[in-house]
Amino acid sequence: MSDAETLFERIIAREIPADIVYETDDTLAFRDINPQAKTHVLVVPKKRYRNVAELAAADPRLLAEVVTTAAKVAELEGLTRDGYRVVFNTDEHAGQTVFHVHAHVLGGEQLGFFGR
Ligand code: 5GP
Repeated sequence: MSDAETLFERIIAREIPADIVYETDDTLAFRDINPQAKTHVLVVPKKRYRNVAELAAADPRLLAEVVTTAAKVAELEGLTRDGYRVVFNTDEHAGQTVFHVHAHVLGGEQLGFFGR
């Protein structure tokens, strides 16, 4: 993992403003600046790992907390009745652009299929 700071560390440190919707001791949830659905929230662990595979290998408890926070966000945003999607883009082919692992929580409307 590169030591270069990503913008999510700066959001976690409150150096860059973000619309925060939920926080735990070890995770932060904030709205995506370029939403791809009516509701689009990002959930990050405060400790940086490059992607979900690195997080899973290093700290499965923290991965579980990220997913639990995503479920809590879905509840707070009123997504649990009709459903929602949780996505971890992982490296280049998936289009990951910020290399601090994050779950996308998407919902609030019918979502299309995705792939190519
Ligand atoms: P990725 O493409 O790495 O899976 O997701 C990165 C996400 O971060 C994108 O959906 C993008 O819109 C979002 N993003 C990029 N810059 C910012 C920012 O400064 N603030 C917030 N809240 N989201 C950002």
